[in-house]
Amino acid sequence: MLAVDTFDGVQSVRGTLSFFGSPLKACFFVVDGLMIDTGPRSLARETIPFLQDVPIEQVALTHNHEDHVGLSSWLIRSKGVRAFIHNASVEATARRKKLPWHRRYSWGTNPPFVSHPLPVRLERDKHTFEVIPTPGHTVDHVVFFEKEKGWLFTGDLFVSTNPVQWAPDESANQFIASLQRVLELDFDTVFCGHAGIRQNGKKLISRKLGYLLELRDKAVDLSNKGYSIHQIDRILFPKKPPSTYITRGEWSSYHMVNSLLDSAGKTKNFTGNS
Ligand SMILES: [Zn+2]
Ligand SMILES: [Zn+2]
Repeated sequence: MLAVDTFDGVQSVRGTLSFFGSPLKACFFVVDGLMIDTGPRSLARETIPFLQDVPIEQVALTHNHEDHVGLSSWLIRSKGVRAFIHNASVEATARRKKLPWHRRYSWGTNPPFVSHPLPVRLERDKHTFEVIPTPGHTVDHVVFFEKEKGWLFTGDLFVSTNPVQWAPDESANQFIASLQRVLELDFDTVFCGHAGIRQNGKKLISRKLGYLLELRDKAVDLSNKGYSIHQIDRILFPKKPPSTYITRGEWSSYHMVNSLLDSAGKTKNFTGNS
């Protein structure tokens, strides 16, 4: 299912999939001939007919995850556009990625594609988008900032104010620094890769930062009292969402707690989920 909205000249497209009964949403945006993220491969059947008539000259990717780069190869082939991504992922986009089954099942595997390193800013006819590196969710994550309008295209930096699970390779240290970095910018509207368009975006990102810092304080306090990382995880998150079981712990609060403790200088003790 595809929902299309227009906000101040930005086309916002949201696709919804079902993941074992729970809705899974992915969003991408088209503005001034620039497409920001391309949605997952599993939405190709709905997305491609929509994109046929949309003028697109460039593709800018927030990071190399299959729910954001899924239709890049189709866009390059069909519209003759160039796709830009963080320098660190240019080689990786040209190779087929091996994904865990649950990511293949929900988002689909995207075909490899040729990408180019993002410049410091993308100049379009009406808008200029500054490229701001925001590692944490992944090392190659960036956001796009349109200063005149106060717009921030955030990929997976925001998603929600209070996440309850992370993947094992997410870095709390970098995530917190990235949230602090974007809070220095003057923006109000967030264009999120999963939550869509959100007003009062600065307040929302500030709430997410506050949540992570508070969670870290609680985890450190428990660690200082002698609790193990698994015990701290169970105290802070006694109820696990179904996706933690479905992904066999790949998406888990344990990884968030572990990384938050690591960012506070507490010994990292990664042993997977149990
Ligand atoms: Zn992602
Ligand atoms: Zn995502």
